[in-house]
Amino acid sequence: MIDVPRIIVCVDCLGRAHLLTHLDNEEPPVRGDVLAYRCEDCLDRWDIVYEVDDDV
Ligand SMILES: [Zn+2]
Repeated sequence: MIDVPRIIVCVDCLGRAHLLTHLDNEEPPVRGDVLAYRCEDCLDRWDIVYEVDDDV
């Protein structure tokens, strides 16, 4: 189970930005990985650094 939002809110236009990065259940993203999103409205790309408190 990967706890990563598939859609975020675009900061520029408040549209929906969809996750571009392929997620693999066998290799979930770790803290510090960059997740790329693209806004469906303004087509801006957003690179979000994955921040999560894990048990490591
Ligand atoms: Zn946008």
